[in-house]
Amino acid sequence: MTTETINKLIIISSPSGAGKTTLCKLLIKKMKNINLSISYTSRNKKLNEIHGKDYYFVSKEKFKELKKKNYFVETAKNFNNLYGSPFINIHKSIKNNRHILFDIDWKGARKIRRKYKKDQIIDFFILPPSKSELKRRLIKRGRDNKKEINLRLSYAIDEMRHFSEYKYVLINENVQKTVDDIKKIIEYRQLIDNQKKILKNKLKKIINI
Ligand code: 5GP
Repeated sequence: MTTETINKLIIISSPSGAGKTTLCKLLIKKMKNINLSISYTSRNKKLNEIHGKDYYFVSKEKFKELKKKNYFVETAKNFNNLYGSPFINIHKSIKNNRHILFDIDWKGARKIRRKYKKDQIIDFFILPPSKSELKRRLIKRGRDNKKEINLRLSYAIDEMRHFSEYKYVLINENVQKTVDDIKKIIEYRQLIDNQKKILKNKLKKIINI
């Protein structure tokens, strides 16, 4: 099944700790025409997280109930927790004529690619500058305990093997530069789309096709 949207579905994936959440927040500040898709998760809320802003935190039972009702465009299991992107975010963005940004993993990205047309999607994979930097960032954000950090590190290596499924792969050495690069790529893709539209209309008038 393919579904029509006017604006882009922007996917940003990366291993936990590569700086993706900060990137997404900065990008939304810089680009006024993007909505963030707030996911549902069955994992516990961390101290600095806000329900309805970072995630909708729900029980496993509630999550499964929503999934049964076809509430999610995609779901995935990570670190023994369930994560899912609700359809409603996409519908709202279309209505408000805005892009929608998904901060999701490669499994979710694959599912979105299956449901939407290629030219509706702009997908980025963000790599950390090194493995040691990834570990340092995971420790620095102070969100997870030692066991979780080690779990996330081992998942990170597996996750990074999927970088080649993405059109744009960026190494996040400097968060401001990475955000600027993402912004430029989105604007470039919009420009190409607009050019195509203009050209199509002009050609119709000039050579009647
Ligand atoms: P965290 O628990 O660190 O916030 O997220 C763990 C992983 O789950 C990250 O790679 C994050 O991108 C991914 N994730 C968060 N929300 C979703 C979602 O709705 N769907 C999918 N497929 N992955 C998600």
